[in-house]
Amino acid sequence: MRWDGNRESENVEDRRSGGGGSPVFGGRSIGIGTVVIALVGGWVLGVNPLTILGFLSGGSPAQVQQAPARKPPVDDRLARFVSTTLADTEDVWRQLFREGGAQYVDPKLVLFRGSTPTACGAGQAAMGPFYCPADRKVYIDLGFYETLRNQLGAPGEFAQAYVIAHEVGHHVQNLLGISGKVDQARGRVSKVEYNRLSVKLELQADCLAGVWAHHAQEARQILENGDVESAMNAAAKIGDDALQRAQTGQVVPDSFTHGTSAQRQRWFGTGLRTGTIKSCDTFSAASL
Ligand SMILES: [Zn+2]
Repeated sequence: MRWDGNRESENVEDRRSGGGGSPVFGGRSIGIGTVVIALVGGWVLGVNPLTILGFLSGGSPAQVQQAPARKPPVDDRLARFVSTTLADTEDVWRQLFREGGAQYVDPKLVLFRGSTPTACGAGQAAMGPFYCPADRKVYIDLGFYETLRNQLGAPGEFAQAYVIAHEVGHHVQNLLGISGKVDQARGRVSKVEYNRLSVKLELQADCLAGVWAHHAQEARQILENGDVESAMNAAAKIGDDALQRAQTGQVVPDSFTHGTSAQRQRWFGTGLRTGTIKSCDTFSAASL
């Protein structure tokens, strides 16, 4: 992926120093084993896994007190990559919203280690990267990229960019009021039905990630040979069926929250090919 030298975002907040891998609030450190458990839960790249965390800790969303935002050090190449990818999503979504007669509000992206407070409750690295609609922030422990590469078998910079773009896709859904509607259904519909809505929301975020990539490619020619394949491979490796098969040897479709490998590839591909938000209407699609 070609990104070096492109604009970096002003919206990255670095909370890694001082944390040193230990939890910021209360809880315990969580190692690689728990990452595996979180993956079994299918929450990797989840829109809001913290509702579960909040449930487990029995607490309501905490008031979050933060020190002034700190920028990542300039010699941190992975942080620069994330910042540059975030900036690219800002450029694309600002323009698409403008063309639609609306104004895009940039999300913030928080780099953390281990655990960090969020407006959705305590965020844990073990849950994988996530977006919190209540504070409009994407949270990522960069250690996830090692998991993606080594444990899930999905290397490549464009696969890493897809992860950011998927979370930014959840932010776009939040701005468009889509995630709010799905959230309202929670508790009013059966668990199986809620999972179906969750799959549609997640596949739409995959499609919106593809929409970003389409326009980034058009404007800045970011793609190199093998890049699309690396993102497609990542989409396959984090499909619910693939994760469940790898972790338990069994596949339980009613428990899917993100969609199968084939569905995730298909919707990312749809966004990538068309570049339109309209093409990402997973809620009205006859089949996923
Ligand atoms: Zn997601």
